[in-house]
Amino acid sequence: MTSQHPTGGPLVDGPSDPEHDPAASYGLEPGYVRRLTDRIVSTTSETAPTYSPLSGQPLAHVPQSGDDDVAEAFVRARRAQQQWARTGLDERAAVLLRLHDLILDRQDEIIDLICWESGKARKHAFDEPLHVALTARYYGRTAHDHLDTRRKLGVVPGLTRVEVHRQPLGVVGIISPWNYPFTMALCDGLPALLAGNAVVAKPDSQTMLTALLAAELLEEAGFPRDLWQVVAGPGSKVGTSIVQRADYVCFTGSTPTGRLIATQCAERLIGCSLELGGKNPMLVLRDADVEKAAEGACRGSFSNAGQLCVSMERLFVADQIYDRFVARFVARTEAMTLGATLDWGNDMGSLISQAQLDTVTAHVEDAVARGARVLTGGRPRPDLGPYFFEPTILEGVTPEMTCFGDETFGPVIALYRFHDEADAVARANAGDYGLNASIYSQDGARARMVARNILCGTVNINEAFGATFASIDSPMGGMRQSGMGRRQGSEGIHRYTESQSVATQRLIRFAPMLGMSDRAYATVMTAQLRVMKKLGRA
Ligand code: NAD
Repeated sequence: MTSQHPTGGPLVDGPSDPEHDPAASYGLEPGYVRRLTDRIVSTTSETAPTYSPLSGQPLAHVPQSGDDDVAEAFVRARRAQQQWARTGLDERAAVLLRLHDLILDRQDEIIDLICWESGKARKHAFDEPLHVALTARYYGRTAHDHLDTRRKLGVVPGLTRVEVHRQPLGVVGIISPWNYPFTMALCDGLPALLAGNAVVAKPDSQTMLTALLAAELLEEAGFPRDLWQVVAGPGSKVGTSIVQRADYVCFTGSTPTGRLIATQCAERLIGCSLELGGKNPMLVLRDADVEKAAEGACRGSFSNAGQLCVSMERLFVADQIYDRFVARFVARTEAMTLGATLDWGNDMGSLISQAQLDTVTAHVEDAVARGARVLTGGRPRPDLGPYFFEPTILEGVTPEMTCFGDETFGPVIALYRFHDEADAVARANAGDYGLNASIYSQDGARARMVARNILCGTVNINEAFGATFASIDSPMGGMRQSGMGRRQGSEGIHRYTESQSVATQRLIRFAPMLGMSDRAYATVMTAQLRVMKKLGRA
């Protein structure tokens, strides 16, 4: 593996803070940071420092929100929502399409900030504006398909007219993680806004600036400023304050937190969608193109250093091609470039934090101590940056090892050989998660048959995750412990609406008429039911 040092000189040895250490410097212009943090609703005078994982340099002192601030954010959001819900759908859709262009125009700035805050490689940061632009364009162009009033079958043909309206819920709480700080902050919120809602967002504390830039871009595109409120602070406090006030909660994060939020939403009888963790399998069938599968496995396992909910952590390879595949996969992995620079060219960046590094290191050390073999990687790389870890391929991982079933959320993949496809599917389906899977085969029809037996919300054939993730018209989310509800497509916007059915009845009523007895009424209705079925009516 080759490596590059960060631009601008040697790495800072630990997080020095310019507020206290005159020799230290901020990674970002303090004026730029202040412009962004001014958007946070905060009156506590408390701040939390953030540092760049690339170098440990300080980035910002982020103002923290208290419960009163969250309450104020909801007041402002509710006021803005009432106005916004009266705006025509075409006007709302047009703002989304303007956002699409703005994001493409400003992508360099967006990507720089994502890299600074998350430590990821530039090519992985690019996926974020790309995904938000796709989402903005999709919902902007399909607004009427999802939200227009629809006529439905009335119970008495010609005499019962039924129409279904889609009403906004009010204020949606969005609690998002750090791993894709731009798209996770925005992509779920865009359909919420289009449907006429406001949002109170609580991004993860480690990546607030990117989420604030996202809020700035929303305003620049034409969404009213107060429609999107941002609050900051620990999830257990500020997240809980949001859940107590929201009309709906959209959560992306870990399964344990998701379960907690679902319980709190149930208490209040409000809806929620939960996009949670995974232990995603890739199946390389015996007729796979080995080179393509090895390339896909590299991207699927090591994008954003494996800190991706849909990335691969278990790789099942057919016996017949196992050795050839492993040789190509290891060679490709060893050719990857790691670096802590903002420019293009790195194949993998840093993990986000010491906590992530500790988890990844612990998973690998535990596996090795219990007999797993490291085919490549396996070590932290402090020479590159404080939280770097090599892309790692393990063989011989067994059920008693932590990384067998627990999500690592890092650049670590376990290889398993299989003889029988049905057995591979059963092993892929083992465990509690069901987020994403990938199948490599040159026979598309056969791969699609196999996909039907996989218990995951998305399955990508001859791709790892990009094909489903970027196809915004199709729903995306987890089965089993990987989530509840779906983002994207119709399901991704209808979750933010209440359907309202309005039926207008003409001429007849649902009761005996003209002196008819109850018994006669029941006889007529029974006959009508039989006729309707014979006529083929639903
Ligand atoms: P996390 O659950 O700890 O935190 C996610 C967000 O929830 C953060 O904003 C955090 O501040 C907030 N939070 C934490 N505790 C809270 C509480 N008690 N109440 C309300 N909010 C709270 O998750 P994480 O470990 O930081 O993120 C990584 C996890 O997210 C992984 O498991 C990953 O698979 C998952 N993830 C899933 C998807 C998906 O689309 N399915 C996408 C990205 C990440």
